[in-house]
Amino acid sequence: MSVPRSVKVCQAIRSAAMVINLKDFIKDVPDFPKPGILFKDVTPLLWSGPAFAAAIEELDRMTQAVDYEVIIGIESRGFIFGAALAQRRQCGFVPIRKPNKLPRATFKQTYALEYGEDSLEMHQDALAGHKALIVDDVLATGGTAEAAARLVDKSHGDLAGFAFLIELDFLKGRPRLSPHPVASLLHF
Ligand code: AMP
Repeated sequence: MSVPRSVKVCQAIRSAAMVINLKDFIKDVPDFPKPGILFKDVTPLLWSGPAFAAAIEELDRMTQAVDYEVIIGIESRGFIFGAALAQRRQCGFVPIRKPNKLPRATFKQTYALEYGEDSLEMHQDALAGHKALIVDDVLATGGTAEAAARLVDKSHGDLAGFAFLIELDFLKGRPRLSPHPVASLLHF
């Protein structure tokens, strides 16, 4: 019996996920954006079609058990991974943005940075009670993801869990997101 072309394509991506070491596509950039930060640059992974596809496939596999209806992406690299995952799942996408970027009424959440503070915003009507998965590229201290979770609370949405391409284990962000499920593809 012949295998449909769509199935063959899926198999190719699955085998790519197994043979590609995705960590090879993350480049360390010392002292960016400021001294002392080792920045995890994901652009080489995005450049590679097979690596990007394998990363999204693996994130999808890791979140199969999470019961969500919509994906929230955090500006800006969370948009890339979140939107790709939403397309794969055929579900909707909600952006959480930096202040004063969204055009309609928003909820705002301010959170502490190492020096100073920052804020995130989400449209007030974006979730309407739906179950949401929050997606970002990197989980570091967890402050950003925690602020996103607060926005879900404010909008009376239902937080189903978190998914990250990269988790920086030594910064111990994961406990801040408890008790929600956290899926991270690559650990450093
Ligand atoms: P945090 O709030 O400390 O968990 O930081 C997470 C956010 O900051 C994510 O949106 C990341 O894009 C960004 N980020 C933090 N640390 C890094 C890093 N070492 N490399 C790349 N992005 C980072």
